[in-house]
Amino acid sequence: MIIGIDLDDTLIETTKTGNKYLKIFVKDNSITDYHDLDKDEYLRFYGMYLYDIQKCAPLKKGALEVLNYLHSKNIKIVIITARGTLGFSESIPVTLDYLKDHNVIYDKIIFKKNHKSASAKQEKIDLFIDDKEKVLDEIRRAGIKTLRFTKKDEKSNHDVVSSWKEVKIYIDNLIGEVKNE
Ligand SMILES: [Mg+2]
Repeated sequence: MIIGIDLDDTLIETTKTGNKYLKIFVKDNSITDYHDLDKDEYLRFYGMYLYDIQKCAPLKKGALEVLNYLHSKNIKIVIITARGTLGFSESIPVTLDYLKDHNVIYDKIIFKKNHKSASAKQEKIDLFIDDKEKVLDEIRRAGIKTLRFTKKDEKSNHDVVSSWKEVKIYIDNLIGEVKNE
């Protein structure tokens, strides 16, 4: 089995971390999510803080343990991420160092993919996990099973999980593993 995984807000707590930097950037609290900045301000924000965010955002709780578990089951892990786009090419070495420093196990990483379905298909991915509905819609159209990592009770056309513990249970069910709890 081959599992595809997104990085930002799926494996890594990116938005929460970015929004801490936003508080320095926007002093009047008029915006609380950096994705709501207009394009020019967004790029200015990225120019100032993107690499800091990518260096210090923590892994999501339980993610490392689940990746290690999947690896122990001979499940291949392919990371497909949009990082490296918008001219922020330094993201690539920053990310590779980060994954190494955090002992993240993976078989392959593909950068600069806002559209992920072609790569997912090429890599023969069986299940793709991402936080974005639109990304998953596209991947499912390529005939690949999808799982959305998002808030509990979020409306979605995909199966939803809100923790890595739930990801493990979901995959255990797929591979027919007996649950211990
Ligand atoms: Mg993401």
